[in-house]
Amino acid sequence: MKTIGIIGGMSWESSAAYYRLINQHAKSRLGGHHNARSLMLTVDFAPIEAAQRADDWDALGHQLADAASQLERGGAQIIVLATNTMHRVSGAIEAAIEVPFLHIADPTGMALQVAGIERVALLGTRYTMEQDFYIGRLRERFNLDVLVPDAAQRADVHRIIYDELCHGDLRDQSRERYGQIIAELAIRGAQAVILGCTEIGLLLKPENAGLPLFDTAVLHAQAAVDWALDAPGSHA
Ligand code: GLU
Repeated sequence: MKTIGIIGGMSWESSAAYYRLINQHAKSRLGGHHNARSLMLTVDFAPIEAAQRADDWDALGHQLADAASQLERGGAQIIVLATNTMHRVSGAIEAAIEVPFLHIADPTGMALQVAGIERVALLGTRYTMEQDFYIGRLRERFNLDVLVPDAAQRADVHRIIYDELCHGDLRDQSRERYGQIIAELAIRGAQAVILGCTEIGLLLKPENAGLPLFDTAVLHAQAAVDWALDAPGSHA
């Protein structure tokens, strides 16, 4: 089994879920007392969140590249970044390491393709919904037609992530708001929804949505474990 390196802390609420998901998937594949070999480097989210608002993606790229290379020096054989938004700087991370980097959009795009989905809605931070680094990858690599909520809905989705979910504050009213937004995206033709923020799955479960949910945190964590167990040279 190879060692998974996780860049966490954005927010730690979702990193805690990653830790559980990674170990649950290893156990479901191997049984018994097995779990995944992993390292997590938790960054402090406050300066990261401030730099996002200041649009200082270069500084963020340097910071996460440093985190990835620390994990590599510590023995990580694959790196995962436990947030969708910060994949805006995935190029800087990949340039800093020799080991593979597993981009969160890739297992998600693959799962959608396998399910035969062509038109999918995306919920995430405003950076993920409004910039091209994420939607462009889904379009170019997986041929997906990606719909995002309208401006007022995007503002609500974003606010709920930062003001509530990143603090572990799960509110019924926000769950209902996400459900309404998904219902409108279904009317616009979405066949499924990408939970393109690693905290949304903490709030929203399949029974709260009228469309199938593709949770990036779950798909990413499982893909990391599958790689750790199946890559050439792994001895499960
Ligand atoms: N965890 C979130 C994501 O998946 C948002 C927090 C962040 O800005 O990293 O995008």
